Amino acid sequence: FKGPPLSLNFMGSYEGEPVTTGVPEVAFVGRSNAGKSSLLNALIKASVNGGNAERKSDMARVGKTPGATAAVNFYQVSRSSKRVLSFVDLPGFGYAKLSKGRKSEIEGLAERYLAKSRAISLVVLLVDARREVAEEDKAVLAALYDMGLSVCVVATKIDKIGKDWSRERDVVSYGLGLPEGQPLGCSSKDGRGVRELWGVIRETARD
Ligand code: GDP
Repeated sequence: FKGPPLSLNFMGSYEGEPVTTGVPEVAFVGRSNAGKSSLLNALIKASVNGGNAERKSDMARVGKTPGATAAVNFYQVSRSSKRVLSFVDLPGFGYAKLSKGRKSEIEGLAERYLAKSRAISLVVLLVDARREVAEEDKAVLAALYDMGLSVCVVATKIDKIGKDWSRERDVVSYGLGLPEGQPLGCSSKDGRGVRELWGVIRETARD
């Protein structure tokens, strides 16, 4: 996104009825600890001239206690007070320590949002580039495809691998059966891949 910096504002949580924003929604989903909050913040920081969250309370929370974000959180992405997009932070999945009931409650929340919202332009599925593809990642991807949603799989934390992450990319690509060009590699630490992800977001939000 060219032009003045973008800002991120926390708008509220989804509790059954989608927060209607009137702008395209980009949803982020991934196993807990995959780097979702970090990537949300990195996307905002990477906007031209370095945008920022306006208040600290608006920053997506990084490294929070697993299980704490059992909500669908809406962030408004705006430029010069004009809304351009919404980022929708879906609850992480794969919490080993949660009870079965609590797990399905959290998953149900994300599923209801995904099934109900008519404004989703893209779902970004995050996987840690250094890890084996989990059965849960496969199941989530299949469910997203079933819902007819556009998905971009992002392999996170590639700074931890180094310059050549082709082996890890192949593992993710093969493991999830991804189309050419995916996964997109990103690092929230050194910013690699973040511009490319903005490119994908911009393209899908235009449709
Ligand atoms: P979430 O649970 O998916 O929201 O994950 P977080 O964004 O809270 O990140 C989980 C942990 O991974 C934190 O300790 C982050 O500092 C770390 N992390 C996230 N993204 C990156 C990255 O791109 N590179 C590195 N080196 N660490 C990362």
